[in-house]
Amino acid sequence: MVQLHYLNYINGEWVGDGFNKVKVVNPATGEYIGSVPNADEEHAKQAIEAASQALPEWSKKSAADRGDVLRKYFDLIMEHEDEIAEVMTKENGKPLKESKGEVQYAASFIEWYAEEGKRIYGRTVPGKRENHRIKVMKQPVGVVAAITPWNFPAAMITRKLGPALSAGCTLIVKPPEETPLTCMKLAKLAEEAGIPKGVFNVVNGNPEKFSETVMSDMRVRKLTFTGSTPVGKLLIKQSAEQVMKLSLELGGHAPVIVCDDADLDKTIEMLMAAKFRNSGQTCIAANRVYAQSSIYDELVRRMTAEVEKLNVGNGLEDGIDVGPLINKEGFEKAGRHVEDAQEKGARVTTGGEGQADTDKGTYFYKPTILADANYDMVIMNEETFGPILPIAKYDHDDEAVKAANDTPFGLAAYFFTQNVSRGTRISEGLEYGIIGWNDGIPSAAQAPFGGMKQSGLGREGGQEGIEEYLEVKYVSLSI
Ligand code: NAD
Repeated sequence: MVQLHYLNYINGEWVGDGFNKVKVVNPATGEYIGSVPNADEEHAKQAIEAASQALPEWSKKSAADRGDVLRKYFDLIMEHEDEIAEVMTKENGKPLKESKGEVQYAASFIEWYAEEGKRIYGRTVPGKRENHRIKVMKQPVGVVAAITPWNFPAAMITRKLGPALSAGCTLIVKPPEETPLTCMKLAKLAEEAGIPKGVFNVVNGNPEKFSETVMSDMRVRKLTFTGSTPVGKLLIKQSAEQVMKLSLELGGHAPVIVCDDADLDKTIEMLMAAKFRNSGQTCIAANRVYAQSSIYDELVRRMTAEVEKLNVGNGLEDGIDVGPLINKEGFEKAGRHVEDAQEKGARVTTGGEGQADTDKGTYFYKPTILADANYDMVIMNEETFGPILPIAKYDHDDEAVKAANDTPFGLAAYFFTQNVSRGTRISEGLEYGIIGWNDGIPSAAQAPFGGMKQSGLGREGGQEGIEEYLEVKYVSLSI
């Protein structure tokens, strides 16, 4: 197998030959598939310098000119869809069809924001005196640093890159240690697309050193992070020193309410996608289901039958629906959640076990349904990040909405009903940033993705997504 060895991409150059390597391993086979440098703070500093130098010229360009470059970048990503998807499956484990879907989704942020930059409008506000005018304008924030997770190796980068570059900012990305190769492919294509040197930089290496370096340098004006809530909290503390702007896309714990009038065929199709995509390792993964008593037995039976059709294995092989978990910690957490639920009375209707090869470092967990779930179980209170779905019973919608909201998280929630009045009440009652109503796949470049409570700060995607990279300034004019 061809291994992929990349250097860091700073100021349009590939650097970092002398460093130790971060070794990248295929989670489905344990094979060593490539490496990136394990750089120290020196590279973060070089990237800050490059991004600062590139900023004046990039931010001065017209939105249409920046859009042209981004459009070219989009085309190149789509031309290389298969190649990027294969690398993604090798380093992340998700089935190839899902990786292709992610490349398309990732590219859609570049395409959408290539246009959206043209719609950064200001305002003219009536003054307070006869000869007074107020002009409100928006300008790019400046140099932005980004830290991203392994579960969406491409999309979590482009969801930041698209709006940041379109707004006129320059960017330094630190990809995750588990899946940096997809990001390096994206950097290579950025170079080919003619994104000017220093506008997009990638620094692999120690995450703590990276965040300390960028957050203590006044030239960096914003940090955008996608990852776990504990790391997000650490970054909030670090940002206090220079009052750095932050966008945080953090953990979730998505509830699903299935009402007695739901179209169960559609519910099951959507629930399968919302739960088992990426082996359940998505921040908006359905984590717990509340099914109304009269349809509960049927839902459990039909979900069990559907889950039994899923094939688990190496995502590069044909017919695989569910790949491995990313690492041992993820596998152990899945096991703990199932054991705890069983101790507290849950019934495993399918799955309930994993297969670990500790020598190779591969960890697969069987898609699992836990019936008779109750609110005391850990899985009903914590993000699982694995292919396990607990189903609890409820009687009244108010009770289900209350249980759904009883968590520090507020990223995504789902519900299924055909009744518009009932659905309106439920959607208004849920304290979540993203709500899927008869929909298990709510993400889209044009929608403002993001969470309430401890699921984060700010939004990515849509009109709101570009505002995160803009400063508001007003000119008070006396004529
Ligand atoms: P993680 O927080 O461990 O790592 C994410 C990134 O942060 C990686 O690049 C890592 O190198 C870096 N990092 C780790 N420790 C750091 C530190 N002390 N300082 C600075 N950077 C540090 O999260 P993960 O395990 O990679 O991702 C899974 C989590 O991400 C889940 O909780 C999931 O819900 C969340 N997530 C959220 C969204 C969203 O849009 N809200 C999307 C995807 C994933």
